[in-house]
Amino acid sequence: MIKTPPKTLKSVQDFLKHGLIEQDEAQTLERGAGLFQMAMTSAVLDTVRGAAAHDPIHKQYVPSAAEFNFKEDELNDPIGDGAHRVCRGLVHRYPDRVLFKVTQSCAVYCRFCFRRELLGDDDRTLTQEDIDAALDYIAAHKGIHEVILSGGDPFVMSARRLKNLMERFNQMEHIQFIRFHTRVPVVNPKAITSQFCESLKSHKRIIVSIHTNHVQELSPAAKSAIDNLDKAGITLISQTVLLRGVNNNPETLMDLFKGLMQVNVKPAYLHHPDKAKGTSHFRVSIEEGKEIFTRLRGQVSGHCLPDYVLDIPGGFGKVPVTADWVKLQSDGSYIVTDIHGGTHQYKD
Ligand SMILES: *Cc1c(COP(=O)(O)O)cnc(C)c1O
Ligand code: SF4
Repeated sequence: MIKTPPKTLKSVQDFLKHGLIEQDEAQTLERGAGLFQMAMTSAVLDTVRGAAAHDPIHKQYVPSAAEFNFKEDELNDPIGDGAHRVCRGLVHRYPDRVLFKVTQSCAVYCRFCFRRELLGDDDRTLTQEDIDAALDYIAAHKGIHEVILSGGDPFVMSARRLKNLMERFNQMEHIQFIRFHTRVPVVNPKAITSQFCESLKSHKRIIVSIHTNHVQELSPAAKSAIDNLDKAGITLISQTVLLRGVNNNPETLMDLFKGLMQVNVKPAYLHHPDKAKGTSHFRVSIEEGKEIFTRLRGQVSGHCLPDYVLDIPGGFGKVPVTADWVKLQSDGSYIVTDIHGGTHQYKD
């Protein structure tokens, strides 16, 4: 049985009390209180080693006044989920899979979150009727082979609610894969007990995508939570957001991806940061991202490397952001650039 994780720090005063913010910043934050959710678990607090300027954990989870600095091109729905919404909580963008935003709560609230506008708002919480409508849609559309449970964070749901959902999917023959996107294994690892993992068991293939942005998050407790998922036979992949001041250099990403492979998690996606409101202090340019990724390719085994992707605003999906490795010339040959910047001619 998992309980709602203890949100140790959930107010400006809590962050102040733990010395994570200064008095003057607290005053600024109080004025904007309620704009975005805040929460940090005790497990995350344990991994903080310093102030935001130097600590990748602090930067990700401690609110800052920089979040009130809105830019004109920032969006409430940066990846365009609304464009493919088929019913409340359900986004059907690709023919063979649906994204089911089954809960609006998270164990922590990340300062860079791309769904921050939608979270923690009780009016948006799905009712049982909403959930039934989403399940009816999935049951009726036989072209759907994968259900992606997201949120919020699906692993903050009770084991009982998760089990009920799994039972519904188990009855749908066309569903082959059930995927969870979650941060809980790293931010509240003690919730991922072996009993919890047992409750996920199914004759369908279960995939858990672990969201993590820095190797410092892979604490011994997090590794043991991941190990429990692994022992239950779950396929483990990961998702990382490229964030300024957190992981925007090849060495940091290399340590993270290798650390993940060590615990049997295959890095799947490195996301270019989305244009969510009040997140410009985290943003990295495409050129910088490409350069980081090119340097990474020269240093790390291919199996440790995720795809570096951009989610096109407006709901047009994810595409790889890659350097122009292979360029067609007007004479029909190609100029191929190697990882050191050297160029080579190639003919078909
Ligand atoms: C990202 C996303 C998916 C999943 O895409 P994958 O490439 O399979 O990870 C599905 N639906 C929506 C709406 C998405 O944004
Ligand atoms: S866990 Fe995911 S959905 Fe929740 S705040 Fe963090 S990024 Fe957003």
